[in-house]
Amino acid sequence: ASRFLEVPQAPPDAILGISEAFKADNSPQKMNLGVGAYRDEEGKPVVLGAVREAERRVLEDPTENKEYLGMGGIPEFCRLSARMAFGEGSAALREGRNATIQGLSGTGCLRVGGEFLSRFYPGPKIVLIPTPSWANHRAIFERCGMQVQQYRYYKADTRGLDFEGMIEDIKAAPEGAILLLHACAHNPTGVDPTPEQWQGILDAALAKKLLVFFDSAYQGFASGDLDRDGYSIRLFCDAGLELLLAQSFAKNMGLYGERVGALTVIVGDSAAAKKVESQLKITARQMYSNPPRHGASIATRILADPQLYAQWKVELKGMADRILTMRQQLYQALQEVGAPGDWGHILRQIGMFSYTGLTKAQVENMTNKWHVYMTFDGRISMAGLSSSKCGYLAQAMKDSVE
Ligand code: PMP
Repeated sequence: ASRFLEVPQAPPDAILGISEAFKADNSPQKMNLGVGAYRDEEGKPVVLGAVREAERRVLEDPTENKEYLGMGGIPEFCRLSARMAFGEGSAALREGRNATIQGLSGTGCLRVGGEFLSRFYPGPKIVLIPTPSWANHRAIFERCGMQVQQYRYYKADTRGLDFEGMIEDIKAAPEGAILLLHACAHNPTGVDPTPEQWQGILDAALAKKLLVFFDSAYQGFASGDLDRDGYSIRLFCDAGLELLLAQSFAKNMGLYGERVGALTVIVGDSAAAKKVESQLKITARQMYSNPPRHGASIATRILADPQLYAQWKVELKGMADRILTMRQQLYQALQEVGAPGDWGHILRQIGMFSYTGLTKAQVENMTNKWHVYMTFDGRISMAGLSSSKCGYLAQAMKDSVE
């Protein structure tokens, strides 16, 4: 007997379920392109050299201990994370118009940001997310009691951005609503706006007085350059908008399971920044009290030490470049096997994923016949691919689309 017998079974997580099926498959040719984690050419997880060195320094530092951090985490980490996102010359940071706290990676920052808005945002509690988006976005904001609406983003015929549709939907949004934007390397499509299109989105957001919430899970991981991938965030911030930013160090520092992130609210007046920061801290206090220290201690050392920072940037570019090489090699292999159709989008898309355009039935063929595991929306993780496997993957894709 249990008073919990009526609890409904939760549906399996779309992505973690794939990993389980992958584990159970005994084929030597099996490939897991479902998970969004970087792998090396041998398919192994990577701990960056800069992370290992920073961790060694943390362990050897006699002033380090295991006491609680404050509710807002490591102040130096917050300062350096904001600088990395908004840039050295950011007027908002110089004027003290940011409230930044350390959070539990990107997800935790989105959630605390959502909780803060649901309690204190004076505008409509409506969050607009792209179609499609990272599946957790809707769930997180609904959990915070917000209403979630969608705007057009991806256009299947061009496998690119539906810019006109996106702008139309933004213009039709309730005045003052919250607009969630992927800062770069849109997940799952790999389709990002051009600089001109970002300007158009900014103008439309300004006209409707929208509050922009940037989700930045891939800064530096998309192009290999932190400044280039920070373009959209800086454009909006420098235009004087108030905005939120959830920053994750999971991908760019490879600190996935360490849960390292930062949440920033940029406000128009530094007096408001102090009040906002106090409420972000209370929100954290009630959810998990204070963030974990180990991963953030590592990240702080990397961000603060010029030599480690330089080493990290080289390694970050190495990861981004390997992904770009995988795009080229897969594209080449698809040409060589004569897979029907135009695969140029594999080269054009940005970041960790490629949205192949394969249908659910075609994905089923990939998995059942070829032992290639991927999400049903046709998304593959380019970071899980290696040179020696591009030929096999191209064969499987050819067979599946024919
Ligand atoms: N946002 C997006 C768009 C993501 O792709 C991810 C990672 N899959 C996250 C947020 C959050 O990841 P984490 O909580 O591990 O930082």
